[in-house]
Amino acid sequence: MDKKKRQKRKYCAECFLNSDIFGVNINNNGLCQECVASKKGSKLQERYKSLVLKAEKRFSIAKKKNSIYDVLVMFSGGKDSAYLLHLLKNKYQLNPLAFCVSVPFLSCKQLSNITEISRKLKVDLIKFVVEQEMYLEYIKFGLSNFGKQSKENNLNYFGCSLCRYIINIVSYNFALRLGIPIIAAGIDKNQSTGPVIDIDNKRNKLKKKYEFFGRAFNKRFRREHNKDIYRFNVDAFTDDQLPDLIYPFTFFEYSDDLAFNSLSEVGIKKNILNSGKGKCCTMAYYFIYLSYKINNNHSHIKILSRKIRKGQKMRFGRAVMRDKKEIEEYLNHEKAALFYLASNQRKDINYEKFNKMFPMITKKDCKEMVDIYNYLGYFKDAKFQKDF
Ligand SMILES: [Zn+2]
Repeated sequence: MDKKKRQKRKYCAECFLNSDIFGVNINNNGLCQECVASKKGSKLQERYKSLVLKAEKRFSIAKKKNSIYDVLVMFSGGKDSAYLLHLLKNKYQLNPLAFCVSVPFLSCKQLSNITEISRKLKVDLIKFVVEQEMYLEYIKFGLSNFGKQSKENNLNYFGCSLCRYIINIVSYNFALRLGIPIIAAGIDKNQSTGPVIDIDNKRNKLKKKYEFFGRAFNKRFRREHNKDIYRFNVDAFTDDQLPDLIYPFTFFEYSDDLAFNSLSEVGIKKNILNSGKGKCCTMAYYFIYLSYKINNNHSHIKILSRKIRKGQKMRFGRAVMRDKKEIEEYLNHEKAALFYLASNQRKDINYEKFNKMFPMITKKDCKEMVDIYNYLGYFKDAKFQKDF
């Protein structure tokens, strides 16, 4: 980024957003538009209530359809998707399919937890394991060819968005082939820009959402027919054929405690539910590092901002923080540590020395951060690593 632009960066006084993030404007009072909107959010509760009724109506329509499953739940083994399965099965009496798209480098522990959780919830589970070489080739191609365009395309979490394309498209292809009328995911209010209940105009919404990534995929794997599970020709389907897409927690009452407590009642303990970025995805720190390189922002800056706006606690490793200053300090340590690791390409880190340099980073965090070596190594010839 050039110096001129860096000087112009304006920061929101209340959250972590700044004017270098696509679509973010800081007004004369020093506030971003999300902070301004959150101050007049009283009408939101009424809107949420009507959306809950709308979703419940779709659930009862799905139940009457006689499909082999009423709903495909995108299942990651985390508390959100586990609680969603529990809610749909036990409160709404639906027949859900737990569907896990396992991308490479999820921990083995996570995969076995997924089986245990679905057993305890008494739901059927499909684990779809994405082939590793193709996946990395696609990520590499996407980052190399479209990374710089990501800003213009309003893609803030570009690495994560590429990966999510694979997960979502595989889920759609399964739901369509199995005739499942609803796809649901445990995305919550902090992870989404607004409520997600796509029950009409589905084709156009999907086209808009996946066009960019679909293009990247087709360009790289043009001739490979065995990769058709990762393609999705939206035009081949009518709105009636396409499943509804509902993220209930973007408008239902929902909290971490509600999920943990309800799940512990059915025998699922906190320790087997995945949480924390490093535990779910070993690519997370690598994508954070790239995000800093692209426009000097953490890849989850919007999620962090939504949490601080609501005064919610944030967990970093073992530390729990609510205070903006403290979080900023942590993020600075995290960034410095990642850049330190990236410039010292060796895996045998001296943890004591490391902790002295970045005291807010725990040994556990550091071990998870070291995963970036796999990706720095794998992508070492890719142009984007030097360009960004
Ligand atoms: Zn703000």
